[in-house]
Amino acid sequence: MKLVLMGSPGSGKGTLSKDLVPKYDFKYFSTGDMLREEVASGSGIGNKIKAVISAGDLVSDEMIIEMIKTKLDELPDDANVLFDGFPRTKEQAEWLDSYLSSRNQKIDAVIMLTADHDLLVKRLSGRRNCKECGRKYNTYFSPPPGNETCECGSRLNMRTDDSPETVSKRLAQYDDQSRNLISYYDSMGLVIRIDSEGSEEQVFKKVENELDRRYS
Ligand code: AMP
Repeated sequence: MKLVLMGSPGSGKGTLSKDLVPKYDFKYFSTGDMLREEVASGSGIGNKIKAVISAGDLVSDEMIIEMIKTKLDELPDDANVLFDGFPRTKEQAEWLDSYLSSRNQKIDAVIMLTADHDLLVKRLSGRRNCKECGRKYNTYFSPPPGNETCECGSRLNMRTDDSPETVSKRLAQYDDQSRNLISYYDSMGLVIRIDSEGSEEQVFKKVENELDRRYS
């Protein structure tokens, strides 16, 4: 099965992926993670990507396609793949369709996570993680014990693109950029909309039920 996971930043794509990967034995491709790895490597290209992400803009289709193609080329045709954050534009989706079709494959479904705007802002701008011990917090829903300080005593980290100004821009831009993409997949009857409010288990169960009902 080839599955695309869509949803605004903060809709819970990463969390859901963590549950879906073992259940369906997915190879997991998150372009956001791949880009952050490149940034962390401190390479020249990484520094350019950092500027784009921090500004809330999208990395070019060309670069994303080159990055994902390298990974896909390594997989057997029939591998189960979960795409998270990719495709992000209709152009990327068209490229993916033609790439898969050249390997006699196709996208089976697009899971679109939906959520209320205010909830998304809180989920994103409240996100904190500890680089020392890996603990995760949200200042609204699961606050750390001290002001910006982890239980282990280390100072908490916030993603540069989670600042309140960048969050608003990312959400608005996501709506703009994804409109064509959603119409594209809707016209193919592939989109399954899932309300992402509720616990991790509840959201996973809803997705699992839909996939099992349609594809088992
Ligand atoms: P994410 O973790 O998916 O929210 O991605 C973080 C940032 O990486 C996005 O705001 C974009 O700047 C960039 N990015 C991730 N995936 C893509 C993609 N498929 N196309 C263009 N830019 C992307």
